[in-house]
Amino acid sequence: VVLVGNLIGEDHVNYVLMYNMLTGIRIGVSRCQAKIKRPLTDEDFTARHKFSFDIVGNELTPSAKYDFKFKDYAPWVFRELREDYFHLDPADYLLSLTSKYILSELGSPGKSGSFFYFSRDYRFIIKTIHHSEHKFLLSILKDYHSHVKNNPHTLLSRFYGLHRVKLPRGHKIHFVIMNNLFPPHRDIHETFDLKGSTVGREYPEAKAATNPRAVLKDLNWINRGKMLELGPEKRALLTEQLRRDAEFLRKIHVMDYSLLIGIHKMERGNRDNVRRNTLKVFSPDIPMTRRATAAAAKGGTSPEAIAMRRAMRESDPKRLGHGKGTIRLPEEDTGDRRDFLFYQDEGGLRATDEANDPLDKIYYLGVIDILTPFSIVKKLEHFWKGLSADRHKISPVEPVEYGDRFFAFMKAIMRGGGGGERFKAE
Ligand code: ATP
Ligand code: CA
Ligand code: CA
Repeated sequence: VVLVGNLIGEDHVNYVLMYNMLTGIRIGVSRCQAKIKRPLTDEDFTARHKFSFDIVGNELTPSAKYDFKFKDYAPWVFRELREDYFHLDPADYLLSLTSKYILSELGSPGKSGSFFYFSRDYRFIIKTIHHSEHKFLLSILKDYHSHVKNNPHTLLSRFYGLHRVKLPRGHKIHFVIMNNLFPPHRDIHETFDLKGSTVGREYPEAKAATNPRAVLKDLNWINRGKMLELGPEKRALLTEQLRRDAEFLRKIHVMDYSLLIGIHKMERGNRDNVRRNTLKVFSPDIPMTRRATAAAAKGGTSPEAIAMRRAMRESDPKRLGHGKGTIRLPEEDTGDRRDFLFYQDEGGLRATDEANDPLDKIYYLGVIDILTPFSIVKKLEHFWKGLSADRHKISPVEPVEYGDRFFAFMKAIMRGGGGGERFKAE
């Protein structure tokens, strides 16, 4: 799979931010990773590591093109999550995020104003988040950590890091790094973002016909008569995991989350190359410390040194004409998700029939956007919307009701679950 995108230059509004985020990640993650692993303490959950970057630099922070500050939140907690529960290779993680290329999908997919960036291998997503989401994630980090620890096959977003960049004029940008549910080597032919709510949850079908990348919603799912085709075995496993995850989400009082489902139809394969020309390519030169450069040259074994050596071995992807950048993605499953029950079939979950035999479809699914607590804003929205429509069918209901409705809908849309029609507003 070759992706072609417009190359973003230094004059682009987000170039400096990208550069600062990636430089910060490289230094912050390497610094934590260079130390010997130890068990977590309570303090680790509230720890913050600060870094100051400028054009001079020193032994530990390289000279950077811009002045900015970087904060790494609970680095030891995220390191344990990445290594022990999400089974990431530290050098891989660094290389994916901080080597030459990073991609941004055109436009921001959400209404919230968040920006999404993809690592050059399409495995990781950087999502800028609101300050309130940031504070919220820190406040539930302990619960999240223990949920993940007790649920190795959780469907919840996998958070790999939480960081902040502060620009010289004091502007702060918070962001998380998380898993991309969609695979690098398979086109996604249909995407659904399902909440179990039906009011206003429809992407115009007329527009969907010409946009293969449309994110469809609950009503599209119901009106198209869709069903999650899973045989009894996978259905039982998925239902149980969703039940546990929804219970966790009720406990931490969030709402507005959704089940994202990407469908790959095997008979269609990759011939449509759905992602072509939809990306912008950033290619900043992320600096490394003198110490890391020396360590890499001397055959050091820290993740940073390994990542550096691998990066140096790679040749630059060729450029396709002026202002274009190309990225080559793997044609085959890289096997990096094989440890996870719901992601083990080519990074996803293969559809099955009633005899549990495989069908020609792979689902890529997970629960996303889980950092919205039932705040004052939502309470207000709840009140106003509640005056005009059936209170229980609209999106902003209380977390317990939201979770129950979410889980009931997900059960209903699996084969044998009775269908989603009964969720439709009269
Ligand atoms: P809003 O609050 O308006 O829903 P948001 O900015 O919080 O928007 P999300 O809901 O997190 O954004 O995501 C928006 C879209 O981005 C999703 O519907 C999906 O298409 C894509 N997306 C988000 N997270 C992932 C992920 N982990 N893997 C793949 N795609 C994702
Ligand atoms: Ca959302
Ligand atoms: Ca959101």
